[in-house]
Amino acid sequence: MNITHPPSVPFNDLGRAHADLRDAFDEAWTDLINKAGFIGGDPVERFERKWASYCQTRHCIGVSDGTAALELALLELGVRPGDEVIVPANTFIATVEAVDAIGAVTVFADVDPDTLLLSAETFEEAITSRTTAVIPVHLHGRICPMDTINDVARRHSLIVVEDAAQAHGAQLRGLKAGSQSHAGCFSFYPGKNLGAFGDAGAIVTNDTLLADRIRSRVNHGRPANGSAQCLRLGGNHRLDALQAAILEIKLPHLDHWNASRRGIVQRYRETLDNSIAIFPNAPENSIGAAHVAAVLVPDRDRVRRRLSEARIATGIHYPIPCHRQPACAHLKTRALPVVEHAADRLLSLPLFPQMTRVETNAVIDRLSAVLSTTDPRQSEWQP
Ligand SMILES: *Cc1c(COP(=O)(O)O)cnc(C)c1O
Repeated sequence: MNITHPPSVPFNDLGRAHADLRDAFDEAWTDLINKAGFIGGDPVERFERKWASYCQTRHCIGVSDGTAALELALLELGVRPGDEVIVPANTFIATVEAVDAIGAVTVFADVDPDTLLLSAETFEEAITSRTTAVIPVHLHGRICPMDTINDVARRHSLIVVEDAAQAHGAQLRGLKAGSQSHAGCFSFYPGKNLGAFGDAGAIVTNDTLLADRIRSRVNHGRPANGSAQCLRLGGNHRLDALQAAILEIKLPHLDHWNASRRGIVQRYRETLDNSIAIFPNAPENSIGAAHVAAVLVPDRDRVRRRLSEARIATGIHYPIPCHRQPACAHLKTRALPVVEHAADRLLSLPLFPQMTRVETNAVIDRLSAVLSTTDPRQSEWQP
């Protein structure tokens, strides 16, 4: 027996988050079966109210998933086929799919080298006479500088939709992610900071007319007054009652889970050699949601292999930037040097709220050892 043998470290472990909440989940599930209220009803209305309040917005509309949230927000805000929508190229492909789904055209923007987020500068560079909207993506849980982005958008009369799928609870100057634009879009995919037991999403907004339009489109065009007359055609993009019930149980834990995530990332930052493991910075006056512990390292694929040999799981968000995806080959694109630089070097370390000190130390020890033997061609890999 060797008690000093380092543990294997998973990338994420949802089981640990759920263990303590098992009784509440069982009770909610039993209640749902007893009432047979699987679509809409109290669980959905209650979660929508609580999520709007958490995000400091007037309205929340629960939807089927985060991709639908983005698509519906763009559509109901009036983005039309052929319009150009600016998207940072280092996002999950879903942001681009939402633009494509309504017939609009994605125009890729580069990102700030310090934060790896869309900035007012990289956004403004991508504006043309056909631009009607922009989607700032709060990547890895760092919130974009919404104040300066909104200034540029106002000057050009553009729609702003936040992709907050990785930023539940992140704040800029005390304002929550999702509340600082025409509409904020969330995913509750199981692995997100607030995750359901399947697919789920939400749109938050302060615009009452927009909220009504989205609400009716989500539910077959039905009017809010319950009338049987369909004045418009919608679709089915509803949030399940089961998912709403699960999310309501998990919501009170979001803030302390996020604090724990931030603590782990902080330890990574403080302990790893910051001349060789470079963590992107968060914009000033912001508190991130620490969704992913992404760090720039040289010779990334070798580092990743060595960690895997030590049974430490890692990820890459994202290995192929959207503008390099074969599916986006038809989209014209400018040079995006920062996105490309980051795509070759980003490594995501294990991160989940219940991660133990022993596990965090195992990651730090192993990664430090690997980085100390990394070929020093480092000067040109830094942004
Ligand atoms: C997860 C995610 C989405 C899509 O959400 P789904 O619920 O999986 O459809 C969109 N954008 C970003 C940045 C994401 O991380």
